[in-house]
Amino acid sequence: MTQGQRVTVVTGGSRGIGAAVALRLAREGHHVAIGYERSHDAAEQVAREVRAEGVRALPVQLDTSVEADVDRLFDTVGDRLGAVTGLVNNAGVTGPLGRFTETPTDVMRRVLDVNVLGALLCSRRALLAMSREYGGEGGCVVNVSSAAATLGAPDEYVHYAASKAAVDAMTVGLAKEFGPWGVRVNSVQPGAVLTEMHATMGDPERPWKKATAIPVRRPGEPEEIAAAVAWLMSGEASFTNGAVLRVAGGA
Ligand code: NAP
Repeated sequence: MTQGQRVTVVTGGSRGIGAAVALRLAREGHHVAIGYERSHDAAEQVAREVRAEGVRALPVQLDTSVEADVDRLFDTVGDRLGAVTGLVNNAGVTGPLGRFTETPTDVMRRVLDVNVLGALLCSRRALLAMSREYGGEGGCVVNVSSAAATLGAPDEYVHYAASKAAVDAMTVGLAKEFGPWGVRVNSVQPGAVLTEMHATMGDPERPWKKATAIPVRRPGEPEEIAAAVAWLMSGEASFTNGAVLRVAGGA
């Protein structure tokens, strides 16, 4: 595991799970870059909360699916916070809830662009910085996938489920390719979690509607996902590589 200061990029750190992850990592001593797309004020607020933990915070606006934006993110973080030692690929979108046959191509394309290409582009830059093969000091990547990757999300967003299965395949492949070079790569698969994502997809009550199908009979809190991410990022998980950790209340 990396010695010295930890500098972790959290994409989608302005709200929901990503904000909880940023704060939790700050409490564990990480300097945190907070990627966001539109929520400038929310990202600044998370940055203030991160700084209150005694570490540095850097909010950076970007679209993770745009290569030049990802390059600017990693260049800025390297200049302002120091060498990157961790990445949490958390930024994600679902598009509106609906039947597969009624899902427009542009919605499918956007979900694949953000969830898959965005995670690939961010991982590539992070691995170039962290892999000992390229002179880095090792590090960690955690990909925020979804229980949908194995449930398939019928009648809701099969294209999103497919994108998250791709994320988990990326985890397995990168773990094997970069494990020898000091980088661990793991996934967390959240189940229904109380964030704004459900309102964005068209049903703010969705996590509670799902509760009867969740063995613990409730949706999760963002902090419960952040705890799993933080463990995977920590030295406590030093032999955990290529794992796909379900955090879904048993669903
Ligand atoms: P959320 O509340 O909707 O927040 C999404 C975050 O991603 C925001 O910070 C948003 O930035 C950012 N983002 C979206 N598209 C982006 C882009 N193209 N470039 C940069 N940033 C972008 O979502 P959440 O519920 O916290 O979900 C976080 C992750 O967990 C996602 O990958 C999601 O698929 C996964 N997940 C969530 C649930 C759940 O029930 N909530 C379940 C399983 C998996 P802005 O604030 O600027 O818009």
